[in-house]
Amino acid sequence: VKTHTVVIVGGGAAGISVASSIRKRDSNIDIAIIEPANRHHYQPGWTMVGGGVFRPEVTSKPMSQVMPGFVSWYQQAVTSVDQEMNQVVLEDGSSVEYKALVLAPGLELNWAGIEGLEDALGSNGVTSNYREGMASYTWEMVQSLKKGRALFSQPPMPIKCAGAPQKAMYLSADYWLRHGVLNNLDIQFHNAGAVLFGVPDYVPALEAYIQKYGIDLNFQSTLVAVNGPSKTAVFRTTDGDGNSQDREVSFDMLHAVPPQRAPHFIRESALANEGGWLDLEDDTLRHKTHTNIFGLGDVSGTGNAKTAAAVRKQAPVVAENLVASLHNQPLRAAYLGYGSCPLTVENGKIVLAEFGYGGVLQPSFPKWINDGTKATRAAWYLKAKQLPALYWHGMLKGHEWLAKPAPRSGVN
Ligand code: FAD
Repeated sequence: VKTHTVVIVGGGAAGISVASSIRKRDSNIDIAIIEPANRHHYQPGWTMVGGGVFRPEVTSKPMSQVMPGFVSWYQQAVTSVDQEMNQVVLEDGSSVEYKALVLAPGLELNWAGIEGLEDALGSNGVTSNYREGMASYTWEMVQSLKKGRALFSQPPMPIKCAGAPQKAMYLSADYWLRHGVLNNLDIQFHNAGAVLFGVPDYVPALEAYIQKYGIDLNFQSTLVAVNGPSKTAVFRTTDGDGNSQDREVSFDMLHAVPPQRAPHFIRESALANEGGWLDLEDDTLRHKTHTNIFGLGDVSGTGNAKTAAAVRKQAPVVAENLVASLHNQPLRAAYLGYGSCPLTVENGKIVLAEFGYGGVLQPSFPKWINDGTKATRAAWYLKAKQLPALYWHGMLKGHEWLAKPAPRSGVN
């Protein structure tokens, strides 16, 4: 059995960032990352590809290029965690032992949760910015659609980047407005949830754009089936008494977002909470019962918005607390639930939602630079020009830009 002091599962936004942040604090720690993929994706860029703003190439790099030189990389998937033996089991049946474990495998997109969707994707106008490589098809569809009906769906929470289903819609509608075809289009948003956005402070700015684009809003309306060749979608609405009704809607374009859940090896393990997500302490990001296990990123059961922006704040907290625990010191760093969702309401303007646990606003900038509850050019500039470089060269390298961990109260 191979042994490493720290084993990190997943080499996505969270896994690479936390490795770099640990290394910054203690360069002697032996770290391994277990990650099967050949490529690393900057998923926040996919919305911009779907809106014709970024070229797809800028959203992805070979994994070998982002994998830090100081880690041992096992290019395999983890199939289970044996927390009693302090080992993870890999797909080839071998095991790797750890002193401390960081779980960062992201979440699973459950495409099969919508009947017919997976087969329909990529033709007949059926697309999803959540699908690797498919945002360019969204952009193709947006440019070619001149009349008819465009549907945008949002599954039940939690999902990664909760604003992304409507971001795709606003950028599309903005293009149609600028090209004089908006009036020929019936745009419908079908949201499984009951509100436009979970934090009420941002809703008025979004509603103004819903009005501007003439979008028909449907709440508690869940996409359950898609038929590509007949270009029809089925939406299920459920009333207060639990009676459900299915409605078939024809479309010319459908942007679909699948339901999401924790990866199987977490969901079905003793490490999960009731919802199947990793059961972490909200502030320390340490596992609630296994004290040598930490976690971060989309797999986490903490109540923050599942975003790369959250990872940016979580990685230093996990690094600080994990290094402290290896040295038998108290955990001093706290994560306050920060997450951020840059809502691309038009090409050139963004409503930059930034908030922590309980929907408490946590703006990074003073109001005169960016008022997060309004659409601003400053926020667009940040997203379109600054954030990709900050991701590749800052966050993944452990440069903790505006991400200093908060101290835990009562711990010295
Ligand atoms: P990921 O980055 O998904 O990485 C998980 C990694 O774990 C992957 O490399 C995977 O191969 C690996 N893995 C999976 N299973 C295993 C296993 N069994 N064993 C080993 N490795 C495994 N965030 C923002 O901050 N702002 C945005 O504007 C934004 N927009 C988005 C738009 C879209 C369309 C999408 C899809 C996401 C968006 N996000 C945004 C969310 C952001 O991309 C995620 O929150 C972020 O990538 C989470 O990082 P992670 O490391 O937890 O997961």
